[in-house]
Amino acid sequence: MAGLTKKYGEVVAVAGIDLEIARGEFFTMLGPSGSGKTTTLRMIAGFEDPSAGTIELAGEDVSGVPPYDRAVNTVFQDYALFPHMTVGDNVAYGLKVAGVDKSERAKRRDEALEMVRLPGYAERKPSELSGGQRQRVALARAIVNRPKVLLLDEPLGALDLKLREQMQIELKTIQREVGITFVYVTHDQDEALTMSDRIAVFSEGRIEQVSPPQELYEHPVNEFVAGFVGVSNVIERDGKRLTIRPEKIELLDSTAAPGGLHSERGKVVEVAYAGMVTRYTVALDAGGTLQLVRQNVDSASSGALPEQGKEVLVGWRPEHAASVHGKSTNEEEAS
Ligand code: ADP
Ligand code: MG
Repeated sequence: MAGLTKKYGEVVAVAGIDLEIARGEFFTMLGPSGSGKTTTLRMIAGFEDPSAGTIELAGEDVSGVPPYDRAVNTVFQDYALFPHMTVGDNVAYGLKVAGVDKSERAKRRDEALEMVRLPGYAERKPSELSGGQRQRVALARAIVNRPKVLLLDEPLGALDLKLREQMQIELKTIQREVGITFVYVTHDQDEALTMSDRIAVFSEGRIEQVSPPQELYEHPVNEFVAGFVGVSNVIERDGKRLTIRPEKIELLDSTAAPGGLHSERGKVVEVAYAGMVTRYTVALDAGGTLQLVRQNVDSASSGALPEQGKEVLVGWRPEHAASVHGKSTNEEEAS
């Protein structure tokens, strides 16, 4: 897509985005609520017309092509299954509408249910399924007519955390197996990092950065991205703004830092025990606060870990302090 823009009166929902998504890619649009993700997805699906810009699918401009003629399907958060129909009829519904004959329909229905790990569920009613299973039926229904691109708008948003984490892994596996391009919308950074080949970070209708998960996390281009994807740990040193990820910061026992580490003194201002890890907030003597985490390898109750108010030495490898622009690209352009 190029120069893609959507205005609703005065509101600029999408402010001119350029993106190229590769075939077979798991591509995620990540951003806070109201940043334009759903609007972008709806324009790809054909439910909304762009105010400006173009969208190509498999090399063809789809301007003016209605949703049902695009090789695209959408999965929403509220899976919207037909409650009175069986699971099998729900999955095969689109094929029936398209005039696919009965035996072919049954074959493709069973293939799709197999792909989402629900073989043998065709005769059940949606009400007899769990939330996760219903979402898988919605997925089967969306892949049964073999779209080139599947659009997913916060599809796991209604599930509780455990199930959501399990479904993240499963969705990624299914995507790899079926080979369909996924364009996935979420506001959950962990979800984005877990599942995606690449992530576009949205803010106020624009894209701040497009990168694979690891690069996004380790080399955020600005403070907005650094803060939205991960903990915002920004300090200013020598006129430069630096971001350092919590897990890269060590709590040093001795008064002298081991060779190669940049170290600073500070005071523990907050301790939050979270089971697997403990999170510390340290106010540095040279200014700024940093959050760091320590794995609770030893028992946290043994008294070996620093408490609130304690003076500590923290250190990090200089290459883990990434220099970031203070502003987001949006603000720079606006000012
Ligand atoms: P996201 O999915 O990232 O939460 P949306 O794409 O839904 O964001 O919305 C982006 C912006 O566009 C928001 O400010 C929203 O209020 C506005 N918006 C979305 N749809 C409409 C609409 N139909 N009419 C007016 N404003 C809209
Ligand atoms: Mg949305």
